[in-house]
Amino acid sequence: MNKSTRRTVIAGNWKMNKTPAEAKQLIEEIKASISGMNTDGCEIVACVPYIDIDIAVKTAAGSAVKIGAENCHWAKNGAFTGEISADMLVACGVEYVIIGHSERRQYFGETDITVNQRVKAALEAGLKVILCVGELLEQREQGITDETVSLQTKIALLGITEEQMADIIIAYEPVWAIGTGKTATSEQADEVCGVIRKVIASLYSDKCAEATTIQYGGSMNAKNAKELLGMVNVDGGLIGGASLKAEDFFSIISAAQ
Ligand code: PEP
Repeated sequence: MNKSTRRTVIAGNWKMNKTPAEAKQLIEEIKASISGMNTDGCEIVACVPYIDIDIAVKTAAGSAVKIGAENCHWAKNGAFTGEISADMLVACGVEYVIIGHSERRQYFGETDITVNQRVKAALEAGLKVILCVGELLEQREQGITDETVSLQTKIALLGITEEQMADIIIAYEPVWAIGTGKTATSEQADEVCGVIRKVIASLYSDKCAEATTIQYGGSMNAKNAKELLGMVNVDGGLIGGASLKAEDFFSIISAAQ
């Protein structure tokens, strides 16, 4: 397996944090921190709240920082109060979108089926998708991590072609590790990312599985990033808390280089 042929992607998930003024400042700080760095080997993404998109896109313009959103609706438009479509995101200069984050699944009724609908809509609009999958603590304790994550991946990718897989990144995020300070061991992260890679091989081809970027997410920080990112199946990170400070985010980007 040759990890070097895959894109390494370090993506921040800001969640419900930062006003537009704070977003501008953070993007400026991230830009400054990476200014002397050769970022060819690592894609850097900041996924921001909807209200921050405009200022984030303008502030990041011309830099290596790409802007993502944290969700999108599956319909093109219509009577969906409070929702945002993939086309709207594209019109605002967004390049990436997180879909199926466990907080959406836990608190907002997101299901594997709606995740699949959103993935399709995002790809059709021309967005790159960061598709989140991961098991609950109870599922890990019951020994059904692999089955859970495989099923989530298979349903999310229903109807997605091998060609479209070039625009999909999968983030393995064990729910028990998100925002808890409990990180999966590098072996656990590598093992489940490997399971996801096998699912992709079974759905598409070995070539496709080898080319797909699979991130780990869950309390990744400046201290544990190097070991996690060094694992053969881990091609980047989806980072929550540690993406809110430029210094911490920069340390993780450096660890990925
Ligand atoms: C996340 O929100 O995707 C995440 C991984 O959060 P944290 O890094 O804070 O655990």
